[in-house]
Order: sequence, then structure tokens, then C-alpha cells
Amino acid sequence: MITGATFRACFDGLAAIGRDPERGGWSRLAWTPQDADARAWFRAEAERRGLDVERDRNGDLWAWWRPQGAAGPAVVTGSHLDTVPGGGAYDGALGVVAGLLTVDALRAAGAHPVRPIAVVAFADEEGARSGLPTFASRLLTGALAPAAALARTTADGVPLGEVLAAAGVDPAGLGPDPERLADVAAFVELHVEQGRGLADLGAPVAVATGIWPHGRWRLEAAGEGNHAGTTRMEDRRDPARVLAAAITGAAVHAVAAGGVATIGRVLVSPNGTNSVPARVRAWLDARAVDEDALTALLEGWTAEVERAADASGVSVELAEESRTPAVSFHGGLAGQVAAAVARQGEEPPRLSTAAGHDAGALAAAVPAAMLFVRNPTGVSHSPAEHADDADCLAGVAALGAVLEELACR
Ligand SMILES: [Zn+2]
Repeated sequence: MITGATFRACFDGLAAIGRDPERGGWSRLAWTPQDADARAWFRAEAERRGLDVERDRNGDLWAWWRPQGAAGPAVVTGSHLDTVPGGGAYDGALGVVAGLLTVDALRAAGAHPVRPIAVVAFADEEGARSGLPTFASRLLTGALAPAAALARTTADGVPLGEVLAAAGVDPAGLGPDPERLADVAAFVELHVEQGRGLADLGAPVAVATGIWPHGRWRLEAAGEGNHAGTTRMEDRRDPARVLAAAITGAAVHAVAAGGVATIGRVLVSPNGTNSVPARVRAWLDARAVDEDALTALLEGWTAEVERAADASGVSVELAEESRTPAVSFHGGLAGQVAAAVARQGEEPPRLSTAAGHDAGALAAAVPAAMLFVRNPTGVSHSPAEHADDADCLAGVAALGAVLEELACR
């Protein structure tokens, strides 16, 4: 039986790592010293439980429970330890902690797994360093090519290969791992909900149906840097006008497509108050319910940006940085997960999400499913992200019922 105190004892150990007083919240960006501390925490917690910890070729940590008599492919749970800059306490962390506590709960209940169980911590899920979300889980399945990953540099200009090597991951070893995937019977990720679905439904836990298609696009607009006082308005070639159209256009076309779109990262050069900018770079994050809606959103946005560029004498380039197709979670597994949760009480609601997850990446290769835990405000990727302890415990209990069902029968 996992109590609030046992939950806190484990969760607070991880939450002590990577506090970011400057931004508020947590900054455990992949391959940083904070990430290394979180990995050391995971290793210690797993080893304290007698689990065998190994790191795979893409930098993921796997903690194995192989009880006597357990054989065949494993049932795997877990999530990620990294955060966005100034992120919340629960995103990723809750799934890893819930995995470890579920092992405790199964042991305390005298469960006898007939399959091995693993708790995994996927690397750079947020893509905050690589610019490539679900970095290691997509390398694992082969959805992300190692060459594309290694072509990246971090925001501070360091080639990703160097960053990985410094963190002890051999860049030459990155890539798909079919043998490892063949050893996974099912992957079930528990995650704090990143919206208000459960809060509106008044339920603590939901089963995921799927993930919206989503992606990231880069905009580069080049005009002419000049004096903010002496350059007449009609003479300007100001790329910030294109940025303005890109931001308002993202909102307009997202609403029209029933999706969401965000420009949350902008670089203006030279970034001076009294200078007309010479160059603007910005990144669009766009998501929609299906591929057609996402394409419509992008087409509308692209036309808007190009119109603004023409009107302001600015050159513009748009590039796709990543596009992740829609994910439908394995119907049979989702049904088993829902049935296992329902046996404890109520039938859990089903929710889709616009947030990407490692389980979404894994779904291309193995049966995958997700449990969401209620987030009262829906806020995520922010220090205000929250889940009540009682709901986290309900999540751990649900995950326990699921692993019992999948690994112990
Ligand atoms: Zn996450």
C-alpha cells in the first residue's frame, strides 16, 4: 500500500533536483548536470530496490525487475526525467516515480510476475537541447535517424554529438534497437494530464486514446537593419512585421482548424530598442486533431507569413524541423488498461491529447498505452503545473492494477 508519505518521500527526492530560482520551477534539461543528478537519483532508487539498471545505446535508463520464474518479453512502464526550461514538477517525473512505487506495491502485495517488469527513464523527451522532442524514444524505434539527430547543435551552438559524448553517450552508437523492442510486450506510461480534461470530468485518472499530430516549424525573416529614428516608415524592410503576422496568423489559423498553434521562441537581431531589426527567427509549434486539419493550419499560416513578407520587402524562409504523425494507442491494450483500472472502482474516462509523449513514439513499435492523472488547472510546462497527492496515489494504484493484469497473469 503506497501512502501519501511514501509517495512524497520518493517524489520529493527527484523534485529537489534542478530547481530553477531564476525562472521558477524546474530546469532539468537533457545532458546537463541537473539531468545527470536526476539520472543518479533514478539509479540509486532502482538499485535500492534491487533492480538491475542499464543504459541503452540512446541514453535511456532501464531498471529491471526479473523475479524468479518470470520469462518472455517484459511489461515496461516509466516516462522521462528531463524538463523544459522552468517546467513543472510532475511532467515526466510522476511517471517515473509511479513506476518505482508500483514495483514496491506489487512486491508488498505478494504479486508474482510471470513476465519481467522494467521502469524506464527516456532521455531528452522534451527536446529542449536537441530541438527534437521524444529524442531517444524515436531513435530507439528508428523514427528519428541518428544522422538527423547528430546534425543538430544546441541553442548555445555546441554540436549535439559533443554534448552526448560529454554526458557519456557514444554518438556512434545512437540508433534503432530492434532487439530491445522485441523484449517489450507492452509499454504503459503514466503522465500528469497537460490540459483540463480530467478536471472538467471530475475524475482522477483517464486512459489515453491517442495523440494529435504535431510539429515544429522554423521561420527566418531577413530585412534591413537601420536607425529607428531616421528611417521613414515607408522605407523600412522590417522583419518584425512578418513576425507579427506570423504570431497573429498562428492564432487565427489554429482556431479555424480546431487546433492549437504557438510561437513561444523568438530571436530578434540585433535586438536593440532603437534599431529596426535586420533579422528575426521564430519557431511555430502547431497541433491539430488530424493530419488534414494540421495541414490546413500550416497552409493558412504559411500564406499569411508570405503575404506579410511580400508587403514589407522582407525575405522569408520556412523550414519543417519535425512533424510527428497522429498516434492511436493500441486498442486492445487500452481496453485491458481500462478494464484493470475499472476493477478498482469506476470505469476511467478516455481522453486524447495534443501533447507528445514517449508512449506515442513507442506506439509505432510495440503495444503502448497511457494513463493520465488529473491536473486541476491544466497548466503544464510551467512552475504552476500541479497534481494533488490523492490523485497521484490514484494513478499509482491504477498503474499497479495494470501491471498486475499485464505482468502477473
Ligand atoms: Zn512529459
